[in-house]
Amino acid sequence: MARYTGAVCKLCRREGKKLFLKGERCTSSKCAFERRSYAPGQHGQGRKKLSEYGLQLRAKQTARRFYGLNESQFHKYFTMAVRQAGVTGDNLLKICESRLDNVVYSLGWASSRAEARQLVTHGHYLVNGRRVDIPSYLCKAGDTVAISKSSLESEKFKAILEKTGVVPEWLEIGSDYTAKVVALPTREQISVPVEEHLIVEFYSK
Ligand code: SF4
Repeated sequence: MARYTGAVCKLCRREGKKLFLKGERCTSSKCAFERRSYAPGQHGQGRKKLSEYGLQLRAKQTARRFYGLNESQFHKYFTMAVRQAGVTGDNLLKICESRLDNVVYSLGWASSRAEARQLVTHGHYLVNGRRVDIPSYLCKAGDTVAISKSSLESEKFKAILEKTGVVPEWLEIGSDYTAKVVALPTREQISVPVEEHLIVEFYSK
């Protein structure tokens, strides 16, 4: 599936907010958005007020880029969200959060969602005791996610696990690098910087 391979910092600058796509660099003084918090390109500093459609488009693009999804994946999740009971915008974000690459990143077992995706693809994680190498695998409440024993011995994982961070309440880390999805997150527990009703309006036209 085609994936964006350009400069990711441009995406933050385009959306006008930090999307934390580059791991440690995002919290350092090297962050491109900290230095140039305007849109990329010749006319980046002269942007006009956005129309209603523009706001909706930017909200959709922000969420899509935050999770590193392409348009067809994101639209597929929107269709799933519409079919579920409850608020469509909340459902959409919950689906994105429950992806295995996002769960791994949220647990601090990868420095960015992009790295999490790569590590999942390389088969470093187990779900309910079985190796899963599909980043889009949707975790459910009660699932256990673990780092495979052989991966724990690699220098890469030793370096990743040296850093500790705050794990969201809907996830729980146990012993032996095994974690549990306690429940799918509520909207308050999701940090994506977007007003999801704008995404719903965008796709509902
Ligand atoms: Fe965005 Fe991170 Fe690049 Fe800063 S360093 S612009 S937060 S991707």
